[in-house]
Amino acid sequence: MENLALKVSEIFNNIAQILELNNDNPFRIRAYLKAASAVEPLGPSLEGLIKEDRLETIPGVGKDLSEKIKEIANSGKLKFYEDLRKTIPEGVLELLKIPSLGPKTVKLLYSKLNIKNIQELEQAARSGKLLTLEGIKEKTVSNILAGIEILKKGRERISLAKALSVAQVFLDELTKKLKIQKIIAAGSLRRMQETVRDIDILLISKKPRQAIDTFTKAKGVKRILASGDTKASILNDEDIQIDLRVVPLKSFGAALLYFTGSKNFNIKLRQLAGKLQLTINEYGVFSLKDKNKFVAGRSEAEIFKVLGLEYVEPELRQDWGEVELAQKHDLPQLIHLSDIKGDLHVHSNYSDGAYSILEMVQACRLKGYEYVAITDHSQSLKIARGLSKKELINKKLEIDKLNKKFSPFRILYATEVDIDSDGNMDYPDSVLAEFDVVVAAIHTGFKQTKQQLTRRLIKACQNKYINIIAHPTGRLWQVRDAYEIDLDEILKVAKQTNTALEINSFPDRLDLNDINCRQAKLAGVKVCINTDSHDIRHLDFMHLGVATARRGWLSKTDCLNALSLDKLLKELSK
Ligand SMILES: [Zn+2]
Ligand SMILES: [Zn+2]
Repeated sequence: MENLALKVSEIFNNIAQILELNNDNPFRIRAYLKAASAVEPLGPSLEGLIKEDRLETIPGVGKDLSEKIKEIANSGKLKFYEDLRKTIPEGVLELLKIPSLGPKTVKLLYSKLNIKNIQELEQAARSGKLLTLEGIKEKTVSNILAGIEILKKGRERISLAKALSVAQVFLDELTKKLKIQKIIAAGSLRRMQETVRDIDILLISKKPRQAIDTFTKAKGVKRILASGDTKASILNDEDIQIDLRVVPLKSFGAALLYFTGSKNFNIKLRQLAGKLQLTINEYGVFSLKDKNKFVAGRSEAEIFKVLGLEYVEPELRQDWGEVELAQKHDLPQLIHLSDIKGDLHVHSNYSDGAYSILEMVQACRLKGYEYVAITDHSQSLKIARGLSKKELINKKLEIDKLNKKFSPFRILYATEVDIDSDGNMDYPDSVLAEFDVVVAAIHTGFKQTKQQLTRRLIKACQNKYINIIAHPTGRLWQVRDAYEIDLDEILKVAKQTNTALEINSFPDRLDLNDINCRQAKLAGVKVCINTDSHDIRHLDFMHLGVATARRGWLSKTDCLNALSLDKLLKELSK
C-alpha cells in the first residue's frame, strides 16, 4: 500500500535539499521542510483533506504547496521537482542519500572539490583530500566512510519486508495466469533472513515453457537476464533479481530444501546423508547401496524422515546446532503469529501516531488481540510530540472510558518513556507509577561510548516501573548500525529485574535481531514482540518480529505478549 503522505513529505524534503545545493532563498527552503514535516504524520487523513479541499488547513501549506500535493496525488509525480532535479548532476543527488551527510556538506564537496558521485567522494575521503576543506575533521571523514558502507550494503541487499512484497507480486501474477500445482518462494526469504540478495521462486507446472514465458513477460520485469526451458532470471523495475525454476512434482521437496538453504545447513545434511549411504541433491535422495535408486524427494517432510530427522522449520536452518537437535527430536517449539495476544508498543495521535486511540483499538480487536498498550512518547521528545503531564490526564480519562465500552478487551495506559543521556527517565517515578505498562527507549545520544550506552540501558532496567526496553540496539536499516552495547551485561541485569527486551517488528528495525534473541533466551530474559505502530497498517508488521523470534529459537513461553491478559497483568505487577 502506498502512503501518499510519506511520498509527499519525501519529495518536499528532497526539494529543500536541492534548493539548498542551489543556494536558493532560505525562507523558501524552510517552507518546504516545514510542510514536509507537517504532512508526514498525517497518514491516510491526507487523502481525506484532498477530497474535502482542506489542504490549506495543514500548517505551512498555502495555495502553491496545496496545488503541488494535488499534482502528486493525481499523477504520482511533480513536474517542478523533476525539472529541479535536472539542475544538479545525478551523482551529487546520490551523495545526499549517505547517512550523516547533509546538503551543506554536499554543497561544499561539490563546489570546492568538484566531487560529483559516491566513488569520487570515497577516493577523496581515503586520500585525505577532504581534510583540506574548512570544517571537515577526521571524525567527519570517518563518519562519511561509515555512511558510504551502510549505503553500499543497502544496495546489495534488500530488506525482508521489501523482498516479501516483491515476491508476492510475482506469486500472485503467476498463480492468476497459470494452472499451477504448487508455487513458493524459497531462499533466504523463506528462512525470513532480515536481508535478502535475490528472490528464488519454485513452481510445479505441466507446461514449463508457458510458465517461463508468463514469468518473463510479467508486469514489472525490466530486463530478462536468462531464459531457458525450466528456469529464468529477471531484474524487476527496482533492479531486484528474481529467479524462477520449474521443477517436477517428484523432486519438489528436494528442490525446495536445496534452494531454501542455508548453504551450511545443506552441507550438514549432505554429510549426514553420506553416513547413511545416501546422497542428496536438488532432485532427491538416492541410495548409494542400491544403484542410486530414488528414495525420497516429493516433500521436505519425506526427506527429513529418511534422514532420521525431525522436521526443521526454515527459520532454523542456519547450522546453529539445529541438525544435532533434530536428530534427537528435540527442536524447540517455535512461536507462531497466532500465539501473540496483544501489542505492547503502539502510538496514537496523542503523540506522533496517525490514528486515534479508538481507531488503533478497533484495529487491534479485529486482529483478535486481548489487549494493546498505547505507548505515546514522553515530554522531552518534542519532534515526536511527546506528552506533558497535563496531556496524560486526558489520555488516561479517554482510556478509562474506552475500557468500559470494550471490556473484556483491555487498553493498557502506557508510555514510551525516553531514557536521557545519563540514563534517567523523562517522567518522574510518581508519573511512571500511574502507567499499566512502561516501555523505555533511547532516542538521542547514540554516539556515546559503549560503557555510557550500556549504563543508560542498565539504569532503565533497574527502574522498577520499566517493564520493557524498546528497540534495544537502536539500529535503523540504511541509516545507522546498532550502537555498541554490552548486551550480556544488560541481559544479566534484565534477568534480575524481570525486564523484557523488545523485538521491534518495524521493517527497518527488527531490533533485537535473531542472534540477540538467542542470547536473551540463554540468559533467561523474556522478549516482547511489538510493532511500534504509528499507523493502523503498521500493526501487520507483527509477523516480521515473530519471524525474527523464530530465527532466534524462541517459543511462546519466552514471549511476554504471548501471555493472556490475566497472566500478563500478574507478570507486570511483579
Ligand atoms: Zn522509539
Ligand atoms: Zn515507539
